[in-house]
Amino acid sequence: MLNAWLDLLLPQPCVGCGRAGARLCDGCLAGVTAPARRMPEPCPAGLPECWSAAPYSGVVRKAVVAYKERGEAAMASALADVLAFTAARAVGAHADRLAGPFAVVPVPSARRSVRTRGHDPVGRLAALAARRLTASGVEARVWPALGQARRVADQAGLSSTERAANLASSLRVLDAPGAPPGAPVLLVDDIVTTGCTLAEAARALRAAGRLVPLAVTVAATRRK
Ligand SMILES: [Zn+2]
Repeated sequence: MLNAWLDLLLPQPCVGCGRAGARLCDGCLAGVTAPARRMPEPCPAGLPECWSAAPYSGVVRKAVVAYKERGEAAMASALADVLAFTAARAVGAHADRLAGPFAVVPVPSARRSVRTRGHDPVGRLAALAARRLTASGVEARVWPALGQARRVADQAGLSSTERAANLASSLRVLDAPGAPPGAPVLLVDDIVTTGCTLAEAARALRAAGRLVPLAVTVAATRRK
């Protein structure tokens, strides 16, 4: 809340180049908008086709970190643009078999992180991106249908096999309004690393009878 007021009073410079004006200026935005299919290596079983706007480094990394820490509206708006553009490309690549309306489902943040940060960064991006998709002619509705089924250990430092075991059956589908029954799901997250979280999200939704063809993220990390 305090950050939100400070941002109004003292606008932050561009996170990429430091120039005054937009929080992510047009030049920097163009540099981080390279939608492509980027799959994790190794690819977890059941992972939908993953599209991201850019590799997780440089400007896009700074933007995601700043957004998650501060929850700035200006950054949410810029990243939602990037996400919606990427989602439109992903859907367009499958125009022969996929048609809207799409259900845009955010991967839920762990409860603790929502509490400590006071905002749900991915849920907000998903809601904004769904509106932008619809405005651009791809009918989409946000559907915050996933919740935690149980607590999971911190994923940091776990191998991809350990992550998969840690996350198994950790998500469940909530009785949330918002998506027509047959709507294909676009899973949304900020970053894809191993893909284990997205695969678990897809499993839960498919178990509830949903079609989950695509996942869309702002950025994709490369595993070392
Ligand atoms: Zn810039």
